[in-house]
Amino acid sequence: MHEVALVESLLQSVQEHIHDSGVTGQVRRVEVVIGRLSGVVPEAFRFAFEVLSPDVLGPGCELVIREIPAVCRCRQCGAVSELSEMILYCPRCQSDDVLIEGGRDLLLQSIELDEEAESGDPRPGEPD
Ligand SMILES: [Zn+2]
Repeated sequence: MHEVALVESLLQSVQEHIHDSGVTGQVRRVEVVIGRLSGVVPEAFRFAFEVLSPDVLGPGCELVIREIPAVCRCRQCGAVSELSEMILYCPRCQSDDVLIEGGRDLLLQSIELDEEAESGDPRPGEPD
């Protein structure tokens, strides 16, 4: 199940993003984009995320998966079509001279944090 390795690297980049932004707090939501041709099984990805994320990001982090279709462009007639399956020909002119232009990616789309309320607040009672 290579989704485990993918989730591990996703969690690592989530941590890096958070570290770079300098924001601290509980991660509430992570949104990823999974292309249909990426070979990633969303259910397996979600399962691996639920197993691995509490150790890295803490409990209660929600995973949102957006699946995007693959898109191919025909080099014969120029038609751009969505591929629902691995059918590598142009639906318009039936040419097999097509370029796959999307749908192979696994992308980290967004991270949502609950910022720690204490961090920026003035501390009452602290001597000046
Ligand atoms: Zn075509």
